[in-house]
Amino acid sequence: MSLEKFDNEIYALTSAELKRQTDHLEMIASENFTLPEVIEALGSVLTNKYAEGYPGKRYYGGCEFVDEIEQIAIDRCKALFGCEYANVQPNSGSQANQGVYGALLNRGDKILGMDLSHGGHLTHGAKVSSSGKMYESFFYGVELDGRINYDRVADIANIVKPKMIVCGASAYARQIDFAKFREIADSVGAYLFADVAHIAGLVVAGEHNNPFPHCDVVSSTTHKTLRGPRGGIIMTNNEEIAKKINSSIFPGIQGGPLMNVIAAKAVGFKFNLSDEWKVYAKQVKANAKTLAEVLIKRGFELVSGGTDNHLVLLNLSDKPYSGKDADIALGQAGITVNKNTVPGEKRSPFVTSGVRIGSPALTARGMGEAEFEIIANRIADVLDDINNASLQAKIKEELKALAHNFIIYDKAMY
Ligand SMILES: *Cc1c(COP(=O)(O)O)cnc(C)c1O
Repeated sequence: MSLEKFDNEIYALTSAELKRQTDHLEMIASENFTLPEVIEALGSVLTNKYAEGYPGKRYYGGCEFVDEIEQIAIDRCKALFGCEYANVQPNSGSQANQGVYGALLNRGDKILGMDLSHGGHLTHGAKVSSSGKMYESFFYGVELDGRINYDRVADIANIVKPKMIVCGASAYARQIDFAKFREIADSVGAYLFADVAHIAGLVVAGEHNNPFPHCDVVSSTTHKTLRGPRGGIIMTNNEEIAKKINSSIFPGIQGGPLMNVIAAKAVGFKFNLSDEWKVYAKQVKANAKTLAEVLIKRGFELVSGGTDNHLVLLNLSDKPYSGKDADIALGQAGITVNKNTVPGEKRSPFVTSGVRIGSPALTARGMGEAEFEIIANRIADVLDDINNASLQAKIKEELKALAHNFIIYDKAMY
């Protein structure tokens, strides 16, 4: 029996999604295309196995093979980040962060993170997230130039006296200076926690500062720039912290680990450890840089004036249209992006004055600077004539043809 025969409803929708991913240009900065080999591991019989606990210390029998799989994932993760301990069980980036807080904080402790509207993540203390409900959260942000001012962060830390400083972002186009954050954390006796969910793929290729040895604990997703399966990881060099993190994840907030996902993480890490990975990560940055240069040449303003990583933030504050309008218009032209707030935002968070555009997914399809130059020009064409539906339709056809020159998934996979 195949999925196609057993449940054609889900099969048809999965196929439609594959077609959507193939036809459109995916430029959401947090998305990527994982390897077919990772998808194979995700779809394996490992999903059947209960393995509560950790390798060699399980609550169930029959764990001899999943023990080896998880140990390989742990060892590869440690090798990638150059650290001593890794937990590869978090089901997502958010659960990884919840695990870190649970390990090192008590209810009501103060945390200092980056403001969501300045590029931070929900789990860095936003009031709607458990991180903002369980802990007393305070925020730093970016200056009007779009950059973190480390002296300002130090001043805020000095007033707040947080137990933990969280660094890392979801919408920040510049390098994060972990050494500076370490100095600030030391000056107030705080733990330093880096969440590298967005930049991990660059970090492990040496294309971004490494949070080690500066940070006490580091978390990441595995599905963004790392191009692995959807999931989370936590790393540290401190044995005491490592023990606390293990019990904070299981039995603290999770039950049986998703062994199929852990195997898929191991497969992804193998790719991340290869020489080919370094080529990919360099290209991600080169493509984002091309995108930035063309958009600036076409008269657009970028938050922080450019990019050091995998994304650009278009600042549309001076335009008659909003981030939401731009998001919709680009979507109609076959380019998937997301609206985003900008420093000094004057529109509501549902409308915004910015758009976040990332290079990782199209780079995974094999596109280089030549393609990014074309795409950046089409983005500018759409925005310069934002109400022109027939132009959007024409560009959509052109970009679909471009996209079809860069296929990664075989239709036979589904
Ligand atoms: C995406 C992201 C997360 C959350 O990851 P999920 O897997 O969606 O829970 C956490 N932190 C940062 C900085 C992120 O960008």
